Amino acid sequence: MTTPLPAGSTIGIIGGGQLGRMLAMAAARLGYRTIVLEPQPDCPAAQVANDQIVATYDDAIALRELARVCDVVTYEFENVPVTAAQVLAETVSVFPPARALDVSQDRLAEKTFLNGIGIGTADFRAVDDDEDLHAALRDFHGVGVLKTRRMGYDGKGQRVFRNAMPGEASGVFTAMGGVPLILESFVSFDREISVIAARGTDGALSAYDPAENLHRSGILHSSTVPAVVAASTAAAAKDAAFSILEALDYVGVIGVEFFVLADGSLLVNEIAPRVHNSGHWTEAACAISQFEQHVRAVVGLPLGSTMRHSDCVMENLIGDDVQRVEQLAGEPNLMLHLYGKAEARPGRKMGHFTRLIRMAR
Ligand code: AMP
Repeated sequence: MTTPLPAGSTIGIIGGGQLGRMLAMAAARLGYRTIVLEPQPDCPAAQVANDQIVATYDDAIALRELARVCDVVTYEFENVPVTAAQVLAETVSVFPPARALDVSQDRLAEKTFLNGIGIGTADFRAVDDDEDLHAALRDFHGVGVLKTRRMGYDGKGQRVFRNAMPGEASGVFTAMGGVPLILESFVSFDREISVIAARGTDGALSAYDPAENLHRSGILHSSTVPAVVAASTAAAAKDAAFSILEALDYVGVIGVEFFVLADGSLLVNEIAPRVHNSGHWTEAACAISQFEQHVRAVVGLPLGSTMRHSDCVMENLIGDDVQRVEQLAGEPNLMLHLYGKAEARPGRKMGHFTRLIRMAR
C-alpha cells in the first residue's frame, strides 16, 4: 500500500472535455488541485480546474511542464498518444498505465487482448484492403460491422453489412479512408450493458452495478440502473471487468461495454480506460461517484463504496436537447449537469441529467 497523496497535491488531467471537468470537480471536493492539458482554451475542464496548459497532447515541452508541476497524471480520453503517457511516466506516476491506452486505442489489439484473457468478443478479422474485406465478409456470410481500428467513437467510422453480395467490398477500403479496419461479426444482442469498475494502487477492486444502455445514431442516449439482467449476468460482467483490471495492472476507473445475448451470456464490445458516459448516474445515485472513485484510485486513497441508494435513469442532452434545461430544472429528484459548452452543435454532448426513480432495494 502506497501512502496517499496529501490534500493540496496536484493532479494533471490530459484532455479538457466534460469527463475532465467532472474529474476536476471531484478532485477539488477531496482537496486536490488540478491542471488540464488541452489545446482548446477555456475548455469545459479548464473552467473548473486550477490551471490549464494550452498545448497539444504530444507537445514535448508542455508534457515536461505537466510532469514538473503535477504529483500524478491521469487522462479523460483514450486517444492520448501512448508515447506521451510513456514519456510522462519516466518522471511522474501516470494512471491508468500506458498499456491500457495501447490496448484500447486499436480495436484489433483490444479484442486480441480480451480473447487472450478468456473474455469473449464478436468474432473479428483484420481488414487492410478490399481482398481482406471480401474474404472476411465471406467468412461471416455477408453480415458484419466494419469499423476503423483506431479513433472511432460514438459510432463514427462504421459501416454495417446486412447481406453483402460478392463485389460489394470493392472500393470500401478506400471509401473508409484507406486506414486499417476490422470486420466484426454482427452480434444479435438482447441488450447492451456496461460496468464501471475500479482498481486502487493497493490492488483493491470495486464495481458499480451494470447500467443498461440505449444508443441512438451510435451515441449513448440513456443509461438505466439497474439493468434488467439475471444476477448471474451482472456478476459475470463485474468479474470480466475485474479480470481486465488485473491483467492490465490497472489503477483508476474503467468502463467496459457488453452485449448481452439471449441466453444471458456476455461479449465485450469495448473498453474505455477512463471514467465513462454510462457511469454519470453514479454522481446522483451513489454516495461515491465514478469521478471521485477515479480520483481516490489515482491519489492512492482507499476506494469508496459503490452502493447505489436509488434506481435511476441518466439521459444525455445532445445538441438542441439543451433547450429542455428550464423544464428539467423544475423536476423534483432530478440532477442536472451542464458542461459549459457555448455552442450546441448537432451530436455534441452538452450535458446530462439523472432522474432518481425510487429507493434501491
Ligand atoms: P462502438 O462504437 O463499437 O461502441 O459501436 C456503437 C454501437 O454500434 C454499439 O453500442 C452497438 O449498438 C452497435 N454495434 C457495434 N458493434 C456491433 C456488432 N459487432 N454487432 C452488433 N452491433 C454492434
